[in-house]
Amino acid sequence: MLFITNMQFPSFFARPPMRAFFYLDGLEVLTFAPYTGGYSFVAGCTMKTIESLLHPDWIICVDDENRVLKDHSLAIDDGKIIDILPTAEANQAYTAEHTHILTGHALIPGLINSHTHAPMNLFRGLADDLPLMQWLEQHIWPAEQKWVSRDFVRDGARLAIAEMLRGGTTCFNDMYFFPDVVAEQAKQAGIRASIGLIVIDFPTVWANNADEYISKGLQLHREIKDEPLLSTALAPHAPYTVSDAPLAELVRLGDEMAIPLHMHIHETPGEIAMAVEQTGLRPLQRLDQLGVLSPRLMAVHMTQLNNDEITLLAQRGSHVLHCPESNLKLASGFCPVQTLLDAGVNVALGTDGAASNNDLDMLGEMRTAALLAKAVANDAQAVAAATALRMATINGARALGLDAITGSLEEGKAADITAVKLDSLETQPVYDPVSQLVYAAGREHVTHVWVTGRHLLDNGKLVDMDEAELLESARSWQQRIADSR
Ligand SMILES: [Zn+2]
Repeated sequence: MLFITNMQFPSFFARPPMRAFFYLDGLEVLTFAPYTGGYSFVAGCTMKTIESLLHPDWIICVDDENRVLKDHSLAIDDGKIIDILPTAEANQAYTAEHTHILTGHALIPGLINSHTHAPMNLFRGLADDLPLMQWLEQHIWPAEQKWVSRDFVRDGARLAIAEMLRGGTTCFNDMYFFPDVVAEQAKQAGIRASIGLIVIDFPTVWANNADEYISKGLQLHREIKDEPLLSTALAPHAPYTVSDAPLAELVRLGDEMAIPLHMHIHETPGEIAMAVEQTGLRPLQRLDQLGVLSPRLMAVHMTQLNNDEITLLAQRGSHVLHCPESNLKLASGFCPVQTLLDAGVNVALGTDGAASNNDLDMLGEMRTAALLAKAVANDAQAVAAATALRMATINGARALGLDAITGSLEEGKAADITAVKLDSLETQPVYDPVSQLVYAAGREHVTHVWVTGRHLLDNGKLVDMDEAELLESARSWQQRIADSR
């Protein structure tokens, strides 16, 4: 390789509008390629050394145009996507420390699970086939009272994070007790997380009253606000568990801190009936009077909505976090997803906790969301495959206020990326990779995951987490919890 020169261009040339190749007797001898602050002119092939270069069959960008690129490659450096370009050009422009030939694979933005209670993985299968209030009051709340501790939250969160990474999820929006422990586990694992600063009126092991929940939450926010992969959201549990005074305080704090507010709202018909009986108002009316409805609100579930409420949500710019499998399992009702989308409401997708789903499988959740929406709308065109994928990626990022950082595969965004193998028996033939991803693939087809360019899942194996240790920990908790029942 012959190095000729290195020229510095003015900053407006820092992103080259095109690459140029020079040929001599049919052989490429000079290549212009992006170089920090200018171009390197090198004879032969590679110009810039970068962290990773991925060569899949398809790149499903989930950008504004929903582009699906064939025979393109994705370049990662310094934790970010620095280029998406035809593979032939990529091989000329870059040399990488790690090159991944992903034949038969599609790259998608890392999936965003917009509603979780990660530590509840240790209650998976503890109480099934029950309606919400019976499930909560007779099973989950007593089990939480007995078992939730820092150790429980640490081991449950770790199990959940491992499950999410294996299923292609690179970011989750959590709400649980000991959020400091969930934050620590997310940081250790290298997954992106929005940590809910939970608030509830009644005492738990985490805090005794609303004031203490709020002050502990604020302290945690201060501790982690500079962590690159962590963000926070105020997280009042639900209208029926948080009274007016703390809600008004959270609205004030949300304005001041400019962070989202994450809350279960209108989950079941019973919630609405109880609120109307006690206050004369539907929960959403009460919350709007308190100022909760704003572009910062992430309203989880929303299975009970009339047309006026859908219009109100659109006017306020609030987000809906849709958890179809949890709603189905608890027979909570049906979120009118397509009607919300048509009204201009941003709808993201979440699994809810593993005690009410019972998995944290976002590929499965996309499929359920796309199928259920058609039944609810009585329209086979409702929530098309590409829409379901947007709900599981960019819409989640938008709800979390992270859409400038993650949620799509675009230059300049963090390298939060999932590779899904589409050349398996179950996913052949591939006429449309997006259709295949949503309607035919499963999480067992997820092979690789990167978060900010860090390789966390390699050929289906967790890179930095010990699977044997996770299994042993889950077995040990199961034994203790089962023996005490
Ligand atoms: Zn929930």
